[in-house]
Amino acid sequence: MALSGLDIYKLLPKTNCRECGFPTCLAFALALAKKAISLEKCPYVSEKAKEALEAQAQPPIRLVLVGDDKNRIEVGNETVMFRHEEKFHHPTAIGFIIEDSLTNEEIKQRVDKITRLQFERVGQLLKTDLIAIKQTKDAKRWLEAVNLISGLAGFGIVLISDDSSALSAALESLAKKRPLIYAATDKNLLEFSRLAKEHNAPLAIRLKSMDDLSELTKKAKDAGACDIVIDVNTGRHNQEVLWELTQVRRQALKKANRSLGYPVITVMNRLSSYEEVIKAGDYIAKYSGIVLLNGFEEWAVLALLTLRQNIYTDPQKPLQIESKLYPIGNTTEASPVLVTTNFSLTYYTVLGEVEASKIASNILSVNTEGMSVLTAWAAEKFTPDKIAESLKKSGVEEKVKHRNLIIPGYVAVMSGDLEEKSGWKIIVGPKEAAGIPSFLKNLG
Ligand code: SF4
Repeated sequence: MALSGLDIYKLLPKTNCRECGFPTCLAFALALAKKAISLEKCPYVSEKAKEALEAQAQPPIRLVLVGDDKNRIEVGNETVMFRHEEKFHHPTAIGFIIEDSLTNEEIKQRVDKITRLQFERVGQLLKTDLIAIKQTKDAKRWLEAVNLISGLAGFGIVLISDDSSALSAALESLAKKRPLIYAATDKNLLEFSRLAKEHNAPLAIRLKSMDDLSELTKKAKDAGACDIVIDVNTGRHNQEVLWELTQVRRQALKKANRSLGYPVITVMNRLSSYEEVIKAGDYIAKYSGIVLLNGFEEWAVLALLTLRQNIYTDPQKPLQIESKLYPIGNTTEASPVLVTTNFSLTYYTVLGEVEASKIASNILSVNTEGMSVLTAWAAEKFTPDKIAESLKKSGVEEKVKHRNLIIPGYVAVMSGDLEEKSGWKIIVGPKEAAGIPSFLKNLG
């Protein structure tokens, strides 16, 4: 929680010496609270006050980086409990666990499958982020698997091992790749924290209960581990896990509890695909920074990536596409022209149906600030004037010989006005995009 001007004033020398350029310490404190000036301007701040003031300038939940510049994954630095309050900033990193008990060929196949788990949705490429290599065999075999996967994959790496000497060798081998060490416990905390410090790597801390958590993160920090990720035990009833995930975030944001101000990782136990996707979905929604899965099914991953995309979209900025003319297929001067808005979901729904019709067409997307058809019409962002202007600017008049414009059925009411303003003949299309293929086929 940010300190107020008065809180800051209490930490200042209160001599009103004016050396900072302000007439009083209180004026300086108020400027500092507004972040309008830096603390260094006062040469008399005590070390203790500096510590307190610098700590309050830190984000309530630390931003943790996993991976190198090529595969950079950022988690944490969240500022709100609910996305409608502002937005969630760093999407949950989704990763897969691969065990070293697989043969090299099987590992290659899995990595290949994971690499292909990419989907385009509303103009954005959705993909997963991490591969976690779990030690079940001896250190030699695990290291072999680590090197194999890190050489193959364009992913951030998580090293799952309890063996500190194997971890040390793996960290040496993956120097500068910033793999996440998983996971320190009360038994090996100091050893693992030292490894994290030495290799500048993030460290996950596994806990038995919430009571241990603050103490363990403090100890790890004192031992030099800066980038900490809290592992919440998922092997319990979902209700308990969600309660704990919520408490960690609440404590960090509402109570300014620094020892809980870290992103959280949730690691799935072996479950059926359905159970795993349901649990992982819950944890993406509240408030996991990293989720590690065992399953690789396409349908499950698509569901989780879609959920993540929806949750981490800025609720105040709908996904938008560039407003322009999009020729779909091998268009000719006789191809139909459909008009819609630049709200991504609307555009891609129309696009999907136009493609399904197999009739080459032009889609004109009008800038409605990311609103869907009816919302934009009600907000006067999808008006005859705007559509007429977009038609002119798009260059469609040079591309097609006809002057027939298909408008969404929901805004049939604007037909007359639009015809007048644009000079185009208006054809009222279907209300729902699903009707587009048969509509286009029967257009004649
Ligand atoms: Fe107060 Fe420091 Fe400014 Fe002097 S320099 S007035 S002590 S804040």
